[in-house]
Amino acid sequence: MRIIIFGPPGAGKGTQAKLISDEYNIPHLSTGEIFRSAIKNETPLGKEVKSILDTGDLVPDEKVVGLVEEELKKEKYEDGYVLDGFPRTVPQAKAFDKILKEKNKSLDAFLQLQVPEEELIDRILSRGEGRSDDTPEKIKNRLNVYWEETQPVLNYYQEQDVVRKVEGVGSIEEIFRRIKKALED
Ligand code: ADP
Repeated sequence: MRIIIFGPPGAGKGTQAKLISDEYNIPHLSTGEIFRSAIKNETPLGKEVKSILDTGDLVPDEKVVGLVEEELKKEKYEDGYVLDGFPRTVPQAKAFDKILKEKNKSLDAFLQLQVPEEELIDRILSRGEGRSDDTPEKIKNRLNVYWEETQPVLNYYQEQDVVRKVEGVGSIEEIFRRIKKALED
């Protein structure tokens, strides 16, 4: 199964993607986690993207697409995966479509996690993960970037008829049950 989990910062994509990964036995690919781990390990990629993540802006499309394309070549992704944090712009979505086409594969589901805007900032602030981009100012910037650059990705997939809306409010287990239902319907 090839799945995209989509939603604004604070919607719970990472948490639910991990549960999906365990339940369906498919790897979880989080671009945000790749970047954070590169920054922590001070790799060349980490040095390149650190200031971008720190402000909450987006890493350039070519960089992200190249990285995802390389990563997806690994054998563990052969039978499926759950993508979290990618695609985040329409050009990324188009590039991902091209990657799929070249491999003769298709997307099974685009899960849209819906959470009211006013809940997002509170959730991020209270999750206390200690991320350098989890301060009120930076969260505001990430949400602005989301509305401007990422939200249009939803319209792009709506045209492909793969979007499944999932209400993202409630307990983690409750939301996960909704996701399973959406995937199995
Ligand atoms: P969140 O959804 O909470 O903002 P992520 O872990 O998905 O967290 O992303 C953290 C940061 O990593 C983003 O603010 C951005 O700087 C960078 N990033 C992650 N994925 C992408 C992507 N697909 N394109 C560009 N930048 C990305």
